[in-house]
Amino acid sequence: MNEFECKTCGGVHQLSTLIEFPQPDIISQITSGKVDQTLEHLGRNTMLINREYILMECEMKIPIVDRDDDLDYLVWVRMDKADVKKAIGSSKDKESIKIKGKLIHPIPFYDNTEELDVHIGSINFEEISICSIDRSTELRQDFIRGISFDKLIIMLEKYYHMD
Ligand SMILES: [Zn+2]
Repeated sequence: MNEFECKTCGGVHQLSTLIEFPQPDIISQITSGKVDQTLEHLGRNTMLINREYILMECEMKIPIVDRDDDLDYLVWVRMDKADVKKAIGSSKDKESIKIKGKLIHPIPFYDNTEELDVHIGSINFEEISICSIDRSTELRQDFIRGISFDKLIIMLEKYYHMD
């Protein structure tokens, strides 16, 4: 089943479980010369801005409890360079690491997610993803417990009819 029937418009929409966000504006502002700051690529969709902070795209997975699937947000996170250095320095085995950061975009369907404090985690600097959400919100509950397939459909109906 890759489509669902929408109660809002009566039509059929794609059953999408991947939600992406645009690149943070500062990236195009720097590359176009509008903002006089430096940008260094550290990896795929990972940039050091003005030698001060890092912007990185990473996954935030919300399990769909009654399906063998996840709702997958590809979010942008901002981390201070000092916090990254500190996290790498204090990581004992250099294999698993946890770094504090902030979400750039609010998350659709969820209130109170502006500039949300999160931690990103990685093992061997691969599979970098959001590993904790630090403010008590509905999003945090869903991140921990997962959502039902019915809730996913309600969220997608809203998503397809956002103005
Ligand atoms: Zn619809």
